[in-house]
Parts: sequence; structure tokens; C-alpha cells
Amino acid sequence: MKKSKLFRRALGLVLAAVMVLPMTGPGMVIESSAVTQAEIDALKSKSSTIASQKKEIQEQLKAVQADKSAAMKKKQLLEDQIDLIRQEIANINEQIAMYDQLITEKTAELEEAEEAEKAQFELFCRQMRYMEEQGEVSYWSILFSSSDFAELLDNYMMIQEIIEYDNRVIDDLVALQEKVTADRTALEGAQAQQEEAKAEQMAAQDELKAQEAEVDKLIAEISAQEDVLEEMEEELNKAAKELDSQIKAKEREYASQIAKVPSESGYLWPLPGGYNTISSLAGGRIHPVTGKPGTHAGIDIPAPSGTNIYAAKSGVVIHAAKGTGSSWSYGNYVIVSHSDGTSTLYAHMSRIGCKQGQVVKQGEVIGYVGTTGRSTGNHLHFEVRKGSTRMDPVNYFKDKTLYVLSRGKKVSLW
Ligand SMILES: [Zn+2]
Repeated sequence: MKKSKLFRRALGLVLAAVMVLPMTGPGMVIESSAVTQAEIDALKSKSSTIASQKKEIQEQLKAVQADKSAAMKKKQLLEDQIDLIRQEIANINEQIAMYDQLITEKTAELEEAEEAEKAQFELFCRQMRYMEEQGEVSYWSILFSSSDFAELLDNYMMIQEIIEYDNRVIDDLVALQEKVTADRTALEGAQAQQEEAKAEQMAAQDELKAQEAEVDKLIAEISAQEDVLEEMEEELNKAAKELDSQIKAKEREYASQIAKVPSESGYLWPLPGGYNTISSLAGGRIHPVTGKPGTHAGIDIPAPSGTNIYAAKSGVVIHAAKGTGSSWSYGNYVIVSHSDGTSTLYAHMSRIGCKQGQVVKQGEVIGYVGTTGRSTGNHLHFEVRKGSTRMDPVNYFKDKTLYVLSRGKKVSLW
């Protein structure tokens, strides 16, 4: 009875501890709030999607702005043309006014000539009447009252001169009237031509104004498009900024997570002790597959397919997948990030034995030797990176007996 009571009390305490631990225990906290590289990668891919959307919108904006400036140019051109026509119409109006003036003048001249003719005729009539009244001028009386032929001729000549003079004056006046009338008709014709020209210019102006109204409409439409695009750009900017700060926060969290995993000062050889012959060192070499000179980023350690690969140092697995794109040549590969800022890479695995985001201890099996990716045979390609700089891995194993294959012969490295 006593025993079982104690047991129950102990069990209760344990249960209470278990229920509290997930929230307060340091190990569990890291597990439950763990940020994975995949999460960060997803955010980054979202961010690059937004960036490409933004680029697309900026390109659209550029096109719209080009359209707008073309429309503005067209509007300016139309306005210039309208200005020219306006000037032309003003000129024509001046001409019309000038013709009005000239026609008025000619009309006055004509009236003057008509009046002069009338006056001359009246004067002639008065003269004739006066001479008749004086008994001087009756044609017949002149002829028959003359005392002799010489006097008759004199009288006849006098009358003839008067008549001729009058006729000349009247003829001149009639000619003048005709000339003035012709001038006036010409002026009226010229004025009518100007009126016609004016009507043409007015029609052209109306046409240009209609075109300008169309262009204004177009500009308004383009501006509305521009506004929408600018708003979209603004929103994308906001989203990008938000995402960026999220990524930074996650990366900080991720880095602190990695920093929390205690890491040893040294590195463990990533394969069982017997596999200690390096077939290819890091640095300049002729690539075994491509045959091209290049820099070997790590060391190659041949081992049979399926041989355990160990984590060289405790840390967090930040990559555990088949290589794609430029990392295709790695085949199945794993990267473990360590709290001292270094990371180790294990490539060409036949099978991956860990998951991204997993905390691994030094010596833990993280995968198995294979020949996936660009590889000529079963081996482990091993890299050590400090930040993004590739280090020579052998420098971390100076106290280990290592061999290197030179012209097919095993030679001690140290
Ligand atoms: Zn290699």
C-alpha cells in the first residue's frame, strides 16, 4: 500500500514535470520553436517571387510611362499646330478687315464719281439753259442768228467745245466709275477668298481640337493605369520589406539555434578509421569526369557503397537533399552548420541519413557513401567551409594518419 502510494505520487510528479518541460526545458524549447532552413528557403523564394513581380510591374510602368510621354508629345504637337492655325486665322481676320476698309473706300470713291458725274451733267444743263435763256445758245438760234458764216462758225465752235468738254468730263467720270467698280469687285473677290480660307482654317482647327481631346482622354487613361501600377509597386515594396524583416528574424533565430548546439573544438574523420586514403586533394586539379582544369573544393575519400558517413562536428543539418541546378554534381548531399561559424559538406551519398533542421552530434551517422551526382566511383567528397570560404579539409586532421594516392601509389600525407 505504502509503496504503491509513493509510486503514484512519484508518477504524478513526473507527469507534472513532463507537462511543464515542453514549455520551460531548454532542449524542448529549441525543438518546438525550431526554425528550419526549409522555412527560410521558402520565405526567400517568396521574396524572389515578389522581386520578379516587382520587376515585371516596373517594366509595365516603364512602358506605360513611355506611352504617356509619347501622348504628351503628340498633345504638344497638336497644341503647336493649333497655335499656328490660330495665328493664321488672326492674319486672315486682319486681311478681311483690311479689305473691308478698302471696299468702303472704293464705295465712297464710286459715290463721289457718281456725284461728280451728276454734278457735271447738272452744270452742263444749267449752262445750256442759261445760254438758251440768254438767247445765246439755241442750237438753231446760234446757227441762224449768226450774222455771217464766220460768226456762225465761231458760235458753232463754241457750242461744240462746250459739248466736247462736257463729254470728256463725263466720259472720264464714267471710266473712273467703271474702274472703281472693277476694283471694288476685285476686292470683294479677294475678301471672299479670305473668308473661304478662314473657313478652311477653322475646320482644321476644329479637327485638331477633336484630336487633342482624344489625346487628353488617352493621357487620362494612361495616368490611371500608371496610378494602379504605382500602387501595386508600393504594395509589393511593403510586402518585400515585411518579408525581408521576417527572413532576417528567422535567420537570426536559426543562427542562434545553431549557436546553442555545443560544438567540439576538433573535427572527427567523417568515415570509419580504415578509410583514410585520399584520392584527390583540395585545390587545383584536372577534373576526373570533365577532364577540365578546376579547383577541387574538398577532398575525395574512396570507400565502399553504404559505408557510414559521420558528422565531423556537432551542429544543425542545413541541407539534406539531392543537389539541383548548379549543385547537381554533388548528388545526394548534406551540409552541417556548426556553432563556430564553420560548416561541413558530405557529397555523392548513396542515401541520406538525416533531415534538414535536425540537430546532429559529432560522430552521428548522417548518410552513406555512394556515387550519386558527378562521380566516377564510390567515395565521399568532403568539404569544410568557414562562412562561405572553402578551407582545405586536411588541415583539420593533422594528427591523423592519412594517405594520398599519387600515381596509383599510397603515400603518407604528413
Ligand atoms: Zn570531390
